[in-house]
Amino acid sequence: MTSIYNQTKNSVKKILSNLNLINPFDSIFSEIEFETLSYCNRKCHYCPNIDYERLGEEASFFMKEEVFNTLINQLKDLNFKGQISPHLYGEPLSDPRIVNWVDKIKINLPKSKVKIVTNADYLNKKMYKDLIEAGVDIFYISKHSKKFKKHFIELIDDLTKEELSNNFIFNDFYTDFKSEEQSLLNNRGGDIELKEKALISKTPPVNCSYVTYPVINTYGDIILCCQDFQNKYVCGNIMERHLEDIWFDDKNITLRKKIFKSRFDLQICKDCVM
Ligand code: SF4
Ligand code: SF4
Repeated sequence: MTSIYNQTKNSVKKILSNLNLINPFDSIFSEIEFETLSYCNRKCHYCPNIDYERLGEEASFFMKEEVFNTLINQLKDLNFKGQISPHLYGEPLSDPRIVNWVDKIKINLPKSKVKIVTNADYLNKKMYKDLIEAGVDIFYISKHSKKFKKHFIELIDDLTKEELSNNFIFNDFYTDFKSEEQSLLNNRGGDIELKEKALISKTPPVNCSYVTYPVINTYGDIILCCQDFQNKYVCGNIMERHLEDIWFDDKNITLRKKIFKSRFDLQICKDCVM
């Protein structure tokens, strides 16, 4: 059950955001996510990838180079210095262009921070070295099976304690999925069923942080948030309008502000628990 402390904290957050005392939409977003490809080599039970082939046709698996270049140029226009995460529901390290694209991000946006979220299935010593040299700042490693692959274990065994603590954050979804509380998991906007006990402690998001930054699919569409696996809510396409125009478009920002204040009109938000 949600604790009294959490209930009070959420009430205070709601009041402050409704008074506009917490408002992350006043200035430009501080992070951005985009998928370089929609393919993932795994099909985890707690991921919508298990039921749907994301974006269908093979041609949509990869973001086209021109979409990537447009995105980087638009971020350059904004003098973007925040966090860039090239992932969504695809496995970024299965994209053969990833090292080259991280390199391009860092050349064009040297003050940005690159975060790689990966299942580590493709992360070996060479790829790690190449990605660090290209400018990756942090790896978020998601564990989705009992053991990591041999080449990844060899890589982490080789690293110093300092490298390991500076460059890696681990999340063990494999263990979390089996636990009753499932504290790391959420229901992906209603696409995933959680255990009964887990649902008791989870609530609809208050001051939803996922709605405060752009998430871009392989086509260049800005979608509602990273929970929108099926791309049901598209706000615009960066090949047609500048990212900044789409982001600050009245309709888009009004919707996002409402969600941030826990006023949910869209079904995906009504179904969402964290
Ligand atoms: S949870 Fe991650 S590794 Fe598992 S299917 Fe989804 S995207 Fe792939
Ligand atoms: S509340 Fe809406 S915007 Fe926020 S994470 Fe859930 S589905 Fe996404």
